[in-house]
Amino acid sequence: MGNEKAVITALREFVGEREWGQFHTPENLAKSISIEAAELLECFQWGDADVVAAKDELADVLTYCLLLADRLNLEPDTIVMEKLAKTREKYPVAKARGRSEKYDRL
Ligand SMILES: [Mg+2]
Repeated sequence: MGNEKAVITALREFVGEREWGQFHTPENLAKSISIEAAELLECFQWGDADVVAAKDELADVLTYCLLLADRLNLEPDTIVMEKLAKTREKYPVAKARGRSEKYDRL
């Protein structure tokens, strides 16, 4: 992916210098992901996408995801790759190609 170390270092510094870590319980960070995801959805509410606003909201979602992973001592690339391996098993290409059904209906 790239500069994720620089990103988490910058986020830790940003949070640390403001003493906001005290507010970043896993529950609060999970709530914040959901809140920011709703703000992202709002960018597409009436059809025409507001891409400039969506970029900022997507960054907010990613930021809180990275902060939650950090808080839980999880490595983002690793957990995504581990989940992708599980999802590959649930959705074999031969069964799932071109279909949107849930794995138990393939
Ligand atoms: Mg936002």
